[in-house]
Amino acid sequence: MTGVRRVVPLTLGYVDLPAYVLEQGAPADEIRAPIPGVLLECDGGWLLLDTGFNTALVTDPALRRRFHGDRALRPVIPGPGEPLDEALERAGLGIAEIRAVAVSHLHWDHAGGLRHFAGRVPVHAQRAEYEYATQPGPEPAEHGMFRVDYDDPAIDWRFAAGDTELAPGVTAVLTAGHTPGHQSFVVDLAGGGGLVFAFDAANTTSGCEHEIPGGLIGVTLEEGAAQIRKLKRLAAERGYQLVPGHDPVAWPALAKALAG
Ligand SMILES: [Zn+2]
Repeated sequence: MTGVRRVVPLTLGYVDLPAYVLEQGAPADEIRAPIPGVLLECDGGWLLLDTGFNTALVTDPALRRRFHGDRALRPVIPGPGEPLDEALERAGLGIAEIRAVAVSHLHWDHAGGLRHFAGRVPVHAQRAEYEYATQPGPEPAEHGMFRVDYDDPAIDWRFAAGDTELAPGVTAVLTAGHTPGHQSFVVDLAGGGGLVFAFDAANTTSGCEHEIPGGLIGVTLEEGAAQIRKLKRLAAERGYQLVPGHDPVAWPALAKALAG
């Protein structure tokens, strides 16, 4: 069977935020959630799912004030250097080895690393996500999409409209709701088995269990829950693990389980 040979979950930083941002109705207690990325070794080379945040918008005082000044979500840089470089180094890879990128959606904590890839490799996204994120007016920014992260003419976009195979063993699945063109990913492993990466369609283990999403744009809570049920069904049919996007326990546990 053809499929993905290696899966390496990355932690590209953290975000401090109230728990209810990740699961509607959860308490206001502050939690520190990991910012996820995933490296997939496919036929044709390494594919990176999601890119973390834009470090300059955190470290430069004026940019931080402009983009993160009065928000309830506060980014945390994990180490002394550029988070993506450090995470790749831990995985024993250089950025030049990444042959393609796919973004689940264009929120600041997922699209902020696209600047590493502009003019270099193809970037997969849903067309509906790009169209929402580049509409005129303040709405995208009010919903956590920072145009500076993704509105770059040097980005080699490859847009999809719905479920699409990105590489042998990697299928993007439209899970619109968290954002209008959010996508999750079904990963078939070459050795059998696989994983379903929900990203922000289902942020936490509890959110998966109780079918409760976090933030939604333009849909009802029930419509957001339907996307979680879709992912649970896809995972159950295949016997794959469903991985939530920002769980403080499940994400590092997966990284540990897949290491070595
Ligand atoms: Zn998001």
